[in-house]
This record gives sequence, structure tokens and C-alpha cells, in this order.
Amino acid sequence: MKQIGILGSTGSIGTQTLEIVRNHTEELQVTALAAGSNIELLEQQIREFRPRIAAVWKEENAATLRTMVRDMDVRIVSGMEGLIEAAVLEQNEILVTAIVGMIGIQPTIAAIRAGKDIALANKETLVTAGHIIMHLAEKCHVRILPVDSEHSAIFQCLNGENSREIDKILLTASGGPFRGRDTAFLSSVRLADALKHPNWSMGRKITVDSATMVNKGLEVMEARWLFGVGLEDIQVVVQPQSVIHSMVQFQDGAVLAQLGTPDMKLPIQYALFYPERQFLPGKRLDFDTLASIDFEKPDPDVFRGLSLAYQAGRTGGSLPTVFNAANEFAVARFLEERIRFLDIYRIIEECMEAHKKVEHPSVDEILAAEQWTYEYIESRWKFEYSH
Ligand code: NAD
Ligand code: MG
Repeated sequence: MKQIGILGSTGSIGTQTLEIVRNHTEELQVTALAAGSNIELLEQQIREFRPRIAAVWKEENAATLRTMVRDMDVRIVSGMEGLIEAAVLEQNEILVTAIVGMIGIQPTIAAIRAGKDIALANKETLVTAGHIIMHLAEKCHVRILPVDSEHSAIFQCLNGENSREIDKILLTASGGPFRGRDTAFLSSVRLADALKHPNWSMGRKITVDSATMVNKGLEVMEARWLFGVGLEDIQVVVQPQSVIHSMVQFQDGAVLAQLGTPDMKLPIQYALFYPERQFLPGKRLDFDTLASIDFEKPDPDVFRGLSLAYQAGRTGGSLPTVFNAANEFAVARFLEERIRFLDIYRIIEECMEAHKKVEHPSVDEILAAEQWTYEYIESRWKFEYSH
């Protein structure tokens, strides 16, 4: 029986992780859950999966939840302290980090220190603190198992291979709902358009990040840390059908790819059972009806999420944190329809230009850079409702 903790259990990745647990009750047991504010769903999850501990962000929600589950043997905790307590629970063997945002950094670090393997969905952790996380994981003999579909694909392609023989990583992208469009088009797109992802069903923030291609930029930085390659050895390839989830080119010219239907349950399940494969119900690729697999070159001048990410990654230090924090802040305003689509790029760029980089930032310095970014944006931009 593998005991798992899930941070972000009420979200897109979290609920799909629980679906896998539901199909593997003999092999998987939930020991800890954590969510932001959806205590109704969390209550249902507590009743179904019977964890020892459950964390919610606000103490007032925790108090309500305590009353809701007073007939059960579960400890309800709150705040960052509670999140960390859920992450490091003695029984956890593996922690699924499916929380959204930089709030995932500290509990992930605490879990690594406590010797828990990490099934990592929260990409912000590696983007901002990759230099700390990878080093710490090695020191604590902890595995970082990627959940992001592209990184899982690369991880699968590297099974049994020597990562020193990687020539380059070919990170695939769907191109999002605005693939092939120009800047003039992007200047007038609305929230509802950005939320229509052609292939994947995901949380709202990451869906907008796919439309700006900031998501792919974050994934380039994530890949760099996970697989120990230089940014110049990661090439983004647009593959509009999302059939190829990523590829690795080796020094002899061989290219290995992982293909499948777009279903996050595959990478989640692969991380939970690694190195074993298990049956996963669902659609299979049908090569009789799959007419073609296309490839395009992304346009970094239009989808500046990509070019700004490479710039942040190349400069390094605290700049990836600023890139990520500025994007988090801007996307939250875009989701409230208080800024326009292209403002997201403008906000990121302004912050990156104004920031004074800190080399090898500590966790405190990363969090300070995040705070600086939010304050800088607040001081420069007015956020009116646009409708
Ligand atoms: P989501 O918005 O659907 O879910 C986020 C989860 O985090 C929710 O359970 C929410 O309650 C929880 N959360 C938010 N703030 C919290 C807080 N303060 N304390 C505790 N919990 C909190 O997001 P998602 O789409 O599931 O994405 C989660 C992470 O996985 C992100 O980092 C995303 O980039 C990454 N990811 C997602 C997908 C996908 O298909 N959805 C794919 C690859 C990577
Ligand atoms: Mg992805």
C-alpha cells in the first residue's frame, strides 16, 4: 500500500489524482489532503478517502470544516503551517504537489527534507527555486517525478537512457487557442476566448498561460532543472493535435517520443506507480482515424510569453521568480477581466526590466522577489473593471 499526500486536492490535477486512487484502492491510500477554500468538496473527499490530516488555507474555513467532519478522525489544520504539516506527515511516502502558484515552494521543500518522494505538478516550484530543489532532492535521496505531461513524456523517453547522451529536448506545445494569430488579433481577444483550450481541460490559470504561451515558457525552465540541460538545448515545437507529448533527441540523432491521448491521468498515474505501468481506462490513440500529426515553429515575437521566459531563464537568479510572479498577478487580473490579454506581456516585461537581480536566491529572497513584483505592479498599474 503506497501512502500519498495531495496538496491541491480539489483542483484539476488533485481531483484526477483521486480518481486514480479510486481505481487502485488496493495499492494507494490517501494520508493527507490540502485545498484552498472549497471546503464542501474537501469534506466529500475526507469522507471518501479518510486521510489523517486535511489542510485549508484560512483558519475560519478550517473551523467550519472541523464542525462539518466532527464525526470523523481527521485533524484539520490551516495556513502555511498546516500546509507544511500535511506535506511532511510521517505516513506520506509520496506527495503530489498539485497546488497552483508559488505557495507550493515551502511545503515541497519541507517534504523533500522529510524524505518524501515528490510527484510534481506545481511547476512554479522548479521555475523559481529549481536550483534549491534539485540539489536538496539529491542530498535527501528523494525522487522528483514529473506530472506535467511534457516532462512526464521526456522522463518516459529517458527511461533506461543516459541523460548525458541527450542532444536536445523537443518540448511540444499545442499552440493554444490563438495558434497562428498575430499581435493585432491578440490585442482584442477576450477572457472567454482565452479559456477555450483546443485539447486539454485544465485549471483556469494554466489555461490562460497556454493561450499566452507563458505556460510553455515555464515548462522550458522546469525542463532545464528536471533534466539538467541548458536552455539552448530545449526547443519548443508546436504540435497542434497534442498527440506527441514531447521528445528527446540523442547524440546519435535518434529521436524518442511519447504519444497518447491528452489525458493528465496518464502522467499522474505514471508518477504514482513509477517505474511500473498500470492499466488506465480511457480512449486510446487510433492510428486508423488519426489523419496526421503536424508540426509548426512557434512565433516568439507574437507569443512573447516564450521569449520573455527564455530571457528570464538565461539571466537566471531571481528573474524567473519575477517572470512567474508578474504573470500570476497579471493572469489573476485578466481572469477578473480588469486587464487585456496583451497587458499580461507588458506587465511581465516591465517587471523584468525594473528588477535588480539577486544571484542564487534563497527561499526568503525568492519570496521577497515575489513580493517586490506584486508591489511594483500595484504601484505602476491601475486595475479598472473593463466591462
Ligand atoms: P487548479 O486551479 O484546478 O487547482 C489548484 C488547487 O490548489 C486547488 O485544489 C486549490 O484549492 C489549491 N490551492 C490554491 N491555493 C491554495 C492554498 N493557499 N492552500 C492550499 N491549497 C490551495 O489548478 P490545476 O490546473 O490543477 O494546476 C495545479 C498545478 O499543476 C499548477 O501549478 C499547474 O501549472 C500544474 N499543472 C496542471 C496541469 C493541468 O492539466 N491542470 C497540467 C500540468 C501542470
Ligand atoms: Mg504541460
